[in-house]
Amino acid sequence: MKKVSWEKFRRTQFDPMIETDAVVIVPVASVEQHAEHLPINTDTNICYRIAIEAAQRIEDVPVVVLPPIWTGYSPHHMSYPGSITLKFHTFVEVLTQIAISVHAHGFKKILFLNGHGGNSPIVQSMQRKLAAEQQITVFSYDYWNLPSVPEEMRRISESDKGGIGHSGEIETSFQLYLQPELVDETAARWVSGARGDPSFGSRAKGESLFTFIVDALIKVLRDYHSGKLEETLKWQKEILD
Ligand SMILES: [Zn+2]
Repeated sequence: MKKVSWEKFRRTQFDPMIETDAVVIVPVASVEQHAEHLPINTDTNICYRIAIEAAQRIEDVPVVVLPPIWTGYSPHHMSYPGSITLKFHTFVEVLTQIAISVHAHGFKKILFLNGHGGNSPIVQSMQRKLAAEQQITVFSYDYWNLPSVPEEMRRISESDKGGIGHSGEIETSFQLYLQPELVDETAARWVSGARGDPSFGSRAKGESLFTFIVDALIKVLRDYHSGKLEETLKWQKEILD
């Protein structure tokens, strides 16, 4: 299996990755309650597995994956046991310092892959902050917003509460595929703190959507490496210049 995890390289092995302009994926997610049937690492697990799978499967572009940022912005989950949150500014700083560190070593293409809804606006504004204040360009996607993924999620959803939700049909399906031993299927029903309908979750849906999302991420990685993705930021650069 191809080695893609940042933390598994020795310091002497980074130069070739920098020379070939490798894309660095920073998975960012959360540890927070996921109703009564899913483990609290659900968002981190999904996001990280997507990143690792895409990095291993892509052959024409060098990609390396940072360890996941496992804690995010989850104050709205703190009334349930197990949830961990950072304060808003702490979280922004963590994201910013990680991007600055990666960039300091010579990596120019940094992609934040987000797996938790509460993080989305913060990751996006951090991207703007880095460009304006540090002249560092990064890209960010929520995995459920990668190109064509929203349409595929709507197509595959059977419950009328479709979309990614929270602990609903889609996340339950992913967990039945990725770590079924941690799912309590007898408790897969809507409870307070959930959004969507977990009873529609299935391993087959999880596998098919996971593969679809990995393919979508591979296309984005190719576009980023070739410079096509950066074209979309030209207008921003013109404003900042
Ligand atoms: Zn979740």
